[in-house]
Amino acid sequence: MKCLYCQNDCEFVELEDLMAKTAEVWKCTKCPHPVRFNKFIKSDRVAMICISMKMHDETYAVHIYHEAGPFEITKYFQIGKVGLKRNMNYIDFEFTPIVQLPGIPNITPTNIEEKLPIYITFS
Ligand SMILES: [Zn+2]
Repeated sequence: MKCLYCQNDCEFVELEDLMAKTAEVWKCTKCPHPVRFNKFIKSDRVAMICISMKMHDETYAVHIYHEAGPFEITKYFQIGKVGLKRNMNYIDFEFTPIVQLPGIPNITPTNIEEKLPIYITFS
């Protein structure tokens, strides 16, 4: 698929878990900050976008959800910190939400450095 922000070709991300049966993940490495697109296999629709960046030695991520309900499409976004969760046999990523708001944020991989601190300050 093409990146929704810079229109370059995305790279396919191999998934090993159960999620691989229902969704596929694509990432863009051409944007100024890393972006991932989660697509439902059934509908071929982007269900979630994740833009991440490092700030003050922490990794932050913006998760933008396009969720289809029975009668409408619900859109909201979360901003949170990304950390590592240590399990018995493997290390996994853990997302801790800080802010959740309705709608689609005015945040893109190009302006995230400028916008993210504003959202975090007012949380
Ligand atoms: Zn891109």
